[in-house]
Amino acid sequence: MNIHEHQAKQILKKYGVSVPKGDFAFTVNELIEKAKKIKTEKYVLKAQIHAGGRGKAGGVKILNNIEELTDAAKEMLGKTLITHQTGPNGKEVKRLYIEESSKIKKEFYLSCLIDRATSKIAFISSDQGGMDIEEVAKKSPEKIITTKLDYLEDIDEESCKKIIKIFNLKDNATQQGINLIKSIYKMFISTDANLVEINPLILTEDDNLICLDAKMNFDDNSIYRQPEIQSLRDLNEEDPSEIEASKHDLAYIKLDGSIGCMVNGAGLAMATMDIIKLFGQEPANFLDVGGGASKEKVSAAFKIILSDSNVKGILINIFGGIMRCDILAQGVVEAAKEININVPLVVRLAGTNYKEGKLILDNSGLKIISASDLSDAASKIVKAIK
Ligand code: ADP
Ligand code: MG
Repeated sequence: MNIHEHQAKQILKKYGVSVPKGDFAFTVNELIEKAKKIKTEKYVLKAQIHAGGRGKAGGVKILNNIEELTDAAKEMLGKTLITHQTGPNGKEVKRLYIEESSKIKKEFYLSCLIDRATSKIAFISSDQGGMDIEEVAKKSPEKIITTKLDYLEDIDEESCKKIIKIFNLKDNATQQGINLIKSIYKMFISTDANLVEINPLILTEDDNLICLDAKMNFDDNSIYRQPEIQSLRDLNEEDPSEIEASKHDLAYIKLDGSIGCMVNGAGLAMATMDIIKLFGQEPANFLDVGGGASKEKVSAAFKIILSDSNVKGILINIFGGIMRCDILAQGVVEAAKEININVPLVVRLAGTNYKEGKLILDNSGLKIISASDLSDAASKIVKAIK
């Protein structure tokens, strides 16, 4: 789960990290009222969308006074921002953030994430932070250092120093840097975060470290035990079909292809997507119906798949382990009778009670193309949509 910059900054603040004073609003009037309460030389107006790269796309503006701020806010609210992280359709700006401006001496990059390959917590730091970090990563990767740590309750002083060494900080700022790493580590562990990214972390003209931007992502699997984090979820920023899927406990991710997939098990779902590609087509989604696919779940899955206008055909690929194929087949038939499935449907069943399952499908009177194995299924659905 992602959250907004202003929410991430509130969390950082709670853990003792320095962030600029700021406030958010859903309307221009509300924003101006809140801006008037902030003492600052200049105002920084920032579009709140779940994507970075806003600075280069007009989503971050520095304004000299309330008049300028009002005009900029009117223009920004409701605008669709297209950044290198939003995809071509962009994201509509529905909330704004106003904060005090900082005097920047240097911009650093700092992030903390889970390194799955080594099962460690990794800090990434660079003295070349700011809006061109992607370029730095490409052209001079040696300017970015990664420090991997064993997962422990606490982080030791030595590791903190290692992480911030590249910033080349002086006296007072060094201690701030160490405290910052400690706070981020603590926050990362206690909130079940996957990623905390501060870009830029700045050194101000008077040598203080401040987080000017913050991006956070949290583990969906443990969000149930993080009610405070969960309350920050902004459904406006999420794909409506993915929201619907999560209500039915379906693991669904929309993709750009034309073949809808309904599969049980993440591994089989991946294999199904691969084999569709192998036969020259693209999957329209990843969908794992999980272990116990009831009729309700299967119909929800059908509805979600069919709500995507790119879908030209559906491939159901089920391996009956704990789940029995006859139960699944019954669910498919009942759901298919309820919903008008106006695209070709190929079903491949294997495992427990697959013969009984196939019989149910064959006798259903529905136009279902049955397949014997993965290749057969993929070739049949690819042929059917041509
Ligand atoms: P994004 O990463 O989406 O482009 P940032 O919040 O990182 O957005 O802002 C982009 C740039 O704008 C920063 O690298 C920084 O130079 C400048 N900036 C952002 N917030 C402030 C601020 N409060 N004061 C001064 N400059 C800022
Ligand atoms: Mg940034």
